[in-house]
Amino acid sequence: MISKRCGHRRMTALAAVILANVAMAHAVPIPSEVERVAKTYITRASLEAPIRFLASDALEGRGPATRGDLLARTYLATELQGLGLQPGGPNGQWQQPFDIVGVTAQLPKTWRFEAKGKAVDLKYHDEFIAASGVQQESAAIGNAEVVFVGYGIQAPEFKWDDFKGTNLKGKVLVMLNNDPDWDPKLFAGNRRLYYGRWTYKYESGARQGAAAVIIIHTTSSAGYPWQVVQSSWSGEQFDLPAGDEPHVQFQAWITEDATRRVFAAAGQNIDKLIAAARQRNFKPVSLGIRTSLHSQNKISRVQTANVAGLLPGSDPKLKDEAVIYSAHHDHLGVGEPDATGDRIYNGAVDNASGCAQVLALARAMSALPTKPRRSILFLFVAAEEQGLLGSEYYSKHPTFPSGKIAANLNYDSANIWGRTKDAVFIDLGKSTLDAVAHGVASSQERTDKPSQFPDRGAFYRSDHFSFARIGVPALSIDGGVDFIGKPQGWGKERVEEFEAKHYHQPSDQIDDSWNYDGMIEDTQLGLYMGWLVAQADEMPTWKPGDEFEAVRKQALSAR
Ligand SMILES: [Zn+2]
Repeated sequence: MISKRCGHRRMTALAAVILANVAMAHAVPIPSEVERVAKTYITRASLEAPIRFLASDALEGRGPATRGDLLARTYLATELQGLGLQPGGPNGQWQQPFDIVGVTAQLPKTWRFEAKGKAVDLKYHDEFIAASGVQQESAAIGNAEVVFVGYGIQAPEFKWDDFKGTNLKGKVLVMLNNDPDWDPKLFAGNRRLYYGRWTYKYESGARQGAAAVIIIHTTSSAGYPWQVVQSSWSGEQFDLPAGDEPHVQFQAWITEDATRRVFAAAGQNIDKLIAAARQRNFKPVSLGIRTSLHSQNKISRVQTANVAGLLPGSDPKLKDEAVIYSAHHDHLGVGEPDATGDRIYNGAVDNASGCAQVLALARAMSALPTKPRRSILFLFVAAEEQGLLGSEYYSKHPTFPSGKIAANLNYDSANIWGRTKDAVFIDLGKSTLDAVAHGVASSQERTDKPSQFPDRGAFYRSDHFSFARIGVPALSIDGGVDFIGKPQGWGKERVEEFEAKHYHQPSDQIDDSWNYDGMIEDTQLGLYMGWLVAQADEMPTWKPGDEFEAVRKQALSAR
């Protein structure tokens, strides 16, 4: 939908109305000058060219701290400079360098659990996976008591506390995955909250002073099969350098079958324990099991960097607030060859495509005759594939105070199959960004949809989450699934086919079959959303009771 040309003040008032969270059945009118730059600068050529470069074999898969990583960062920084942006990193730099620590743990082939004179040995890889929780030469637990702690959750807002003040120091905690999901009033029902993510479980155990946390893996509670645990938790594990926060010695997973064998040896009925864990009055259960584990660790320390360009705002009052667009520039580098012998994990979709989208947004925004009122930061974060490390580092060392970041709009893996009737946001239902998403999607004659798999916890698995954790209303703009001119279910098939054949494989490469029309529209959609947020008098807010509302209030009061 096209609107009449309108002046700066009127556009501001308009944006304010939109963000006032009025129920909107109608599309948001996009000012003609904004629409003009969107159509002129967000094109197939402006998206395809950066993908061709970033996903070329010359960049060797952009693994953190490799030559390909350096080339990608240099390319992004010089592109931003060429657009006339200002350096967006700290100290007037284009890049925000940071160290990451790699830990490779040598684990024994079996892990023994002893109960009542019986011993159960679990096989590494097949039945258990463990990573060192500490960045030291070795990690160890010795003859530690094993305690079942249900979900391992402490959530005052749901009056839920699985620990009930039990002393868990030095113990090995066995936890259920996910969060309570059977009651819509509890933990948002079927939607997985942060409490249901493995990161929370390991942090929660560490806060109790536990020696180790073991998560029981089931495909339904994890949202992915055991193979994903095997591939993502073996080999070198990267993290930001450890601070003084507590850490467990081991972060472990065991299969459901293995759990049954261990519990049975101690005469414990796992089904009864799980049933008890579903009650509020559950208390930790010492299983009568003891265990030891030791790993020899190889430690490495390397450096990578986020890249950022800044478009200063035009409003003297609002220019020290920012809207942040983000996309991760890293991928998996050079690794195990596939069936064709290809070893380069090009990461064309994941996430050269998102980088191209944010570059195109930078190009379009820079060309606006009237710059947005708030500043816009174009941020390319590093080491996402290692666990959102670049965005986590940025969130701990932001170039704008968190209370002055209006919103984060993230792109990770674009649509390469054409135009869609819908637009998917990860996730709706959390903040007043919903209204902006709805209005803009309607203006493109598309319907807005939340994450299609809420139970998988997609919200906590991409870089926008690092911003949410510091209170910034955030979401990822994802491709739609309902393709124009294609039968129902065609889009879902494409996504599933991509996940099975190309996701995190050397074959995630650019090819001539790609249709850029959907990617173009998703990028234009992000331009309109970011522009509206940048213009509005008020910043977006979390919905009352949202899990990130409290930290936002703190950040705003510290401004
Ligand atoms: Zn990825």
